[in-house]
Amino acid sequence: MNRDSANMLDRFLSHLESVFFISLHDAQEIISNFHQEMRHGLAGGESSLKMIPSFVGRPKGTEKGKFLALDLGGTNIRVLAVELDGNGNATLAAVSKFVIPQEMMSGTGDKLFDFIVDCIQLFFKENNIGIQQAYDLAFTFSFPVEQGSIASGKLIGWTKGFTAAGVEGKDVVALLSEALKRKEIGFIHVAALANDTVGTLVAKSYADPYCDMGVILGTGTNACYPEKIAHILKCPGLGASEEMIVNIEWGGFSQLKTNIYDNVLDRASLNVGKQLLEKMVSGMYLGEIARLVIVEMMEQGLLFRGTSLSAFSKGYALTTEHLSMTAQGSGFFADFGLRDVSATDRQTIREICRIVSTRSAKLAGAAIAAVVAWMDAKLESDHTIAIDGSLFEKYPGFKGYMIDILNDLFGDRGARIKLDLAKDGSGIGAAIIGAVAAFNRRRMIT
Ligand code: ADP
Ligand code: MG
Repeated sequence: MNRDSANMLDRFLSHLESVFFISLHDAQEIISNFHQEMRHGLAGGESSLKMIPSFVGRPKGTEKGKFLALDLGGTNIRVLAVELDGNGNATLAAVSKFVIPQEMMSGTGDKLFDFIVDCIQLFFKENNIGIQQAYDLAFTFSFPVEQGSIASGKLIGWTKGFTAAGVEGKDVVALLSEALKRKEIGFIHVAALANDTVGTLVAKSYADPYCDMGVILGTGTNACYPEKIAHILKCPGLGASEEMIVNIEWGGFSQLKTNIYDNVLDRASLNVGKQLLEKMVSGMYLGEIARLVIVEMMEQGLLFRGTSLSAFSKGYALTTEHLSMTAQGSGFFADFGLRDVSATDRQTIREICRIVSTRSAKLAGAAIAAVVAWMDAKLESDHTIAIDGSLFEKYPGFKGYMIDILNDLFGDRGARIKLDLAKDGSGIGAAIIGAVAAFNRRRMIT
């Protein structure tokens, strides 16, 4: 590479760094905009944050029994059997994971729900679980739902690339129960519907009283926290307890400075103009942002010179797993038919991935800071943030960047915020929610 090209490359990379940079001032602005949107959302006004009441409070740790949970994420379906000992211990007795095929995401709702029930049946077979007894099942559904009660809720709109027809506006518990009936499975009763963030918060707070936030950083991103019922102005008369967990649906947060790559990604997406924070933060999109940068740099002759663009020309060809590989020191080049990649190109790719993933982690950190500051403006107590999702779990260094921004924002007090992986939390927590729902139902019957 000659000196002119090296200079152009340096200039491009510093430009890239600046358009993806989140300054302390940006983070503070995000926090104040977030608070405004939270306030409007809770009052039922216009807001990019839906602030959905979950009909669930934090658990007491005394819930007991064996429950099933079904966790429909954006990429995977997990079926779990969870045992609660009544002493704050939730044990995963069995779990099976299935990848959701593309044709199920974009076919009809009936086809999707039939597939989900097939997964449940396979789970019973794989784990040799008898079907003699009846089971209560909690359904974790990781999409925006207008919850009507603990065991009903209508899908507001698909996100994360799903388009299955005939589901939007419908009660997803009824759709699941109908699919169970179609397949003549009478021994499973859908006892609760939970958002994945709520499951995650409940799972961690079963044993940790300082846990007051559930966050998802996987295919998509979202969070929840316990809110005083008196503050949920849009839903008067939610019940006698003091607090209820609110699903923020923060993936929809829209007061953000997007750059050219974000705008191109958004315009080509299935939900144009929606889920802006999700599109800048979550696992479904980081690979695509990096791909758009790579394509531009190849067009300008700054990367992989002499190589045809075709390997990178397909939307979503590059995934977040690929980015994560570069942070582990390996490359993704073989997957794109690239051989003999120069040291400069390798370094450039590492830089692109670092820039894209750092912004994601800092935005996630700023959003967490906003919710913590909403609950505890002076940061007077400790806060455990339960986080589930493969992006947080597996992206090297991701958590470190989140901690950096929390420390920048809060100084020494930032250490009061503990970011804790809640692996499979969304499913385990749903089982706990199912336990509470089943207990309340029996109490009502007897
Ligand atoms: P779901 O969103 O379906 O609940 P996960 O929490 O497992 O499932 O998140 C899956 C997403 O996490 C994938 O779409 C991908 O973007 C991201 N991901 C998976 N593996 C890795 C990895 N090794 N490093 C970073 N991100 C990953
Ligand atoms: Mg998930």
